[in-house]
Amino acid sequence: MTSLRHSLIFRLALGYGLLFLLSIGVISSVFYIGTAGLLARDADKQIVAIAHQLEQTHDRSGDAGLLQAVHTLLTDDKDVETEVYLLLDPHGNKEIGNLTSWRLLPGVNDVLTNAKVQRLGRDSTSRLLVHRFGDGSTLVVGRDLYEQHQLERTILTALAIGGALGLLLAVLGAALFRSQLQARIAVIQHATHDVSAGNLNRRIDVGEAQDEFAGIARDINRMLDDINRLMDTARNVSNTIAHDLRTPLGRIRGALEEALQPLSSPDGLQRAAHYAIDEIDTLIGVFEKLLQIAEAESGVRRQLFELFPLRPVLDDLMELYQPAAEARGMRLRVEVEGAPIVRADRDLIANVLANLLDNAFKYAGSGALVRLIVRQDDKRVHIVVEDDGPGIPADALGRVTERFFRVDSSRSQRGNGLGLSIVAAVVSLHRGELRLEDAQPGLKVSIFLPTT
Ligand code: ADP
Repeated sequence: MTSLRHSLIFRLALGYGLLFLLSIGVISSVFYIGTAGLLARDADKQIVAIAHQLEQTHDRSGDAGLLQAVHTLLTDDKDVETEVYLLLDPHGNKEIGNLTSWRLLPGVNDVLTNAKVQRLGRDSTSRLLVHRFGDGSTLVVGRDLYEQHQLERTILTALAIGGALGLLLAVLGAALFRSQLQARIAVIQHATHDVSAGNLNRRIDVGEAQDEFAGIARDINRMLDDINRLMDTARNVSNTIAHDLRTPLGRIRGALEEALQPLSSPDGLQRAAHYAIDEIDTLIGVFEKLLQIAEAESGVRRQLFELFPLRPVLDDLMELYQPAAEARGMRLRVEVEGAPIVRADRDLIANVLANLLDNAFKYAGSGALVRLIVRQDDKRVHIVVEDDGPGIPADALGRVTERFFRVDSSRSQRGNGLGLSIVAAVVSLHRGELRLEDAQPGLKVSIFLPTT
């Protein structure tokens, strides 16, 4: 199990959580600045309005009227916790007010400032507006900021607690997220460890799940099936090669041994040598076909692909196969629609068609009709080689492209079970599609080749 620090899932989930938290933080800051700013602006407006009223009272009713008005404000039981009033005579002596200590900056007039004062004997930071009248007397109107600061502190504390809780939740959520996903990954890991330990039949238990992990697990299972099949094929191929080599080699050896007997004639020696050469040629043929398949599967010949019309290739084939068909009492018919063009390896395509025609000739029997049909649509060229012979039994249809596979009933015919393997390898080299179907009766081989 990867440590939390190295876990990509944990880091992603945590990153997402932190991003979320950051956005909440930004929203909260805007909210905080908006709320606190609004409160402060409201308080300022109120101070300015009261100061303005008192100035008007002074203009209207003189010092006595102002004194009376301030007295009324101080005793009206409104805003008792926050109101600040101070009236000083021209000599700076307090006439009325609830400030017990103050320090007013000289020259500051009609401007709102924050100042440290004592209000009713208690230290206070207050917002003050100082107005100096023409006769030298001074009016101070203000507001204790204690409550406002208290509110701001409360909001900040709430935001800090919320942020800390959010952070905790983000970390816990990321850990939970990771443990959930880790459990899903562990199922896959256990299976792949088992497979690498040699248990190639082990598969990941997917159940009915349809999520991304189930998709990956199914892909891996499919891949393991393919690997198993390939290994079976490889095993099968090497067994068959060993077997197919041993029999003819044994025969060659027997013939040569017999020819070397003291009583054998020069004719017998010649016959044995010819026999050995024929058998060895057949073996070389098998190896050549195996090499052709390997070359097609390696994909190197893709570099030789060219765009070419199929018709000349078909004409050449007809020239070659028509006489053979007539000699065997078979009918060979070619039907080409339009002028099909493919991007392919010309020799390989000719080889594939020759293999299919050989098979049709070999297995369909005399009197059979063999059709070679070619047509083209927007994206693909469709080639069909069809005969009306005995065809291939349904249970063998899926296996005839395996190397060395032959239907038992065909063993009387010469062959080595590599022709259709070459066809399949060449079609897949061209990223095409090969279909083998029952033509009822006979075999229908369809090849779809991309045109670009
Ligand atoms: P080979 O012909 O050398 O045996 P192929 O790979 O070409 O090998 O064919 C594999 C097997 O498929 C053949 O042995 C035969 O049993 C069967 N087969 C192929 N083509 C036909 C056909 N046209 N009709 C009937 N059976 C066929």
